[in-house]
Amino acid sequence: MAHSTIDDERIEQFQTDVHGDVIRPGDAEYDDARTVWNGMIDKYPTLIVRCRGTADVIRAVEFARENDLRVAVRGGGHNVAGTAVCDDGLVIDLSEMRDVWVDPDERTAWVQGGATWADVDHETQAFGLATPGGVVSKTGVAGLTLGGGIGHLRCAYGLSCDNLRSVDIVTADGRHLTASADENEVLFWGLCGGGGGLGVVTGFEFELHPVGPEVATCFVLYPEERVAEYLRAYREYVLEAPDGVTTLSSTGVMPDEGLFPVDMVDDLKVGFLGCYAGSPEDGEEALAPLRELGEPIADFSGTMPYAEFQRILDDDYPDGMRYYWKSLYLDGFTESAIDRIRYWAGTAPSPLSTVDVWELGGAITDVDFDESAFAGRHAPFLLGIEANWKDSANDDINVEWVRDCIADMRQFSDGSFYLNFPGFFEGGEAAMETTFGPAYERLIALKDEYDPEGLFDLNRGANSTV
Ligand code: FAD
Repeated sequence: MAHSTIDDERIEQFQTDVHGDVIRPGDAEYDDARTVWNGMIDKYPTLIVRCRGTADVIRAVEFARENDLRVAVRGGGHNVAGTAVCDDGLVIDLSEMRDVWVDPDERTAWVQGGATWADVDHETQAFGLATPGGVVSKTGVAGLTLGGGIGHLRCAYGLSCDNLRSVDIVTADGRHLTASADENEVLFWGLCGGGGGLGVVTGFEFELHPVGPEVATCFVLYPEERVAEYLRAYREYVLEAPDGVTTLSSTGVMPDEGLFPVDMVDDLKVGFLGCYAGSPEDGEEALAPLRELGEPIADFSGTMPYAEFQRILDDDYPDGMRYYWKSLYLDGFTESAIDRIRYWAGTAPSPLSTVDVWELGGAITDVDFDESAFAGRHAPFLLGIEANWKDSANDDINVEWVRDCIADMRQFSDGSFYLNFPGFFEGGEAAMETTFGPAYERLIALKDEYDPEGLFDLNRGANSTV
C-alpha cells in the first residue's frame, strides 16, 4: 500500500476521535514510540496511535483505510524482525492495553492485546494459576501466541495458542469479531499459530492451570570438555522425562561479563534450563538427572516462585541491544547434529550468542495437526540460533553466522521454521509454504476473506502473505 500525505486537519480529527495519543514525527514522544526491543530496527512511521481500547482500534483501522496507510500492529514490541513498526504507515500500538482479568472459578484469563507475559503471570499467579507463555516475561502475549508460543510449560500444557478459548479481533473492514471453536471457527483456527495478519487482536481468552506458586526448576551450566557428552545425555533424558518436565539446552561460549572465572572466558559451555509443572518435591526428583551429569560451572536450580522463574532470563535480553535469531524444526537430535551444534556454538562472533535446542512433544502432540494452524507439532525438537551483540559495526558478521549455521543445519530438518524466530523473514512466501505445508492454502483463503486488500501484510514481514 502506498504512503499518502495526510493533512493536519485529518490528523487532528483522528486525535479527537480516539482516546489514546496520536504521535507524529516532531512530537517529543516520537522517537520513544517508534523504538522496539531489537536495536537493529530503525523505522519511521507516519503516525503512531496508542490505543486505549477497542473503540480506538476500530477507528484506527478505519483511519488507515481512509488514508491509504499501511498498518503495523504493536503488541509487546519484541518481534525480532521488528514487524511491530513500519516506515511510512500507521502503527496501531496496543502497549497501553495491558489489562488481565482472571476468573478463578472458570480457570480462565481474559488478556488485552498489548499485555506482556509479566502482566499475565502477575494476575494469574495470585490464584496459583498459569497459562503457557514464553521464557522471557517482557515479551508480548499477542505476537507470541499468534505465532504459537513455546515456553516453560509447553510439554505439560501445550503451546500458548493451544490454551486459547477465544479471541476478540478487529478485522480490516473495522468489524469486531469473536473467534472460538464455536464461532468464526476457521478464523480461530488461523489465529492459533498461523502468525496473525488477519486483524488487530484486542483480547485473548486463555485456559488456566494450577501451577506454583513454587515450582522446581533446573538452570545448570557445564564446562567445555564434555559438551557433546552432555548434549547426548540431554537427548536421552528428554526421552524418559515425564510430561510435567519442560527443558531446553543452550550452547555458547562464556562471555567476559564478570560472571565467570577469567580463565574460562571464551570456553564453550552448555546450559540446561527448565521446570516441572507439579509438586516441587516431584519436580526436584524429575529434574535431578540434569543436575547430576558432571561437575557444573554453576547451578542456579532449585524450587522458586513460578513468576520469578518466568523472569530469570529477562536481564539477558536488554532493550536496544542487537539481535538476529533464526530457527529450524529438527527431525531428531543425532550425533552429527550434536557435532555441528558444538561447532557453530564455538564459532559465534559474539560471546553472547547461543545455539539452543528446545524439546517439543508432550502436550504439544496431544493436539491434532489440523486442529490449529501451528506448523511445528511434527518435530521432536526446535533449533534456535540466537546472535546477540552490542556493536553495530558487527552487524554483518553476526547475521552471516546465523545464516551459515542455518544453511548447514538444514540437513537435520525438513526446512520448516518457527514463525516467532524468523530472522528478518528472508525467504518470504516460499519459506511459509514449506513451514505450513497443507495448512498454507487454508491460511491464504483466510487472508483473502478477512484482509483482501492486505492492510495487515506487514505483520509477518514485507514478503509474507500470511
Ligand atoms: P510485536 O513485535 O509487538 O508483535 C509481533 C507481531 O505480531 C507483529 O507482526 C505484530 O504486528 C503482531 N501483533 C502484535 N500484537 C498484535 C495484536 N494485538 N493483534 C494482531 N497482531 C499483533 N517465543 C516463544 O514462543 N517462546 C519464547 O520463549 C520466546 N522468548 C523470547 C524472548 C525474547 C527476549 C524475545 C525478544 C522473543 C522471544 N520469543 C519467544 C519470540 C516472540 O514470540 C516473538 O518475538 C513475538 O513476536 C513477540 O510478540 P510481541 O507481541 O512482543 O511482538
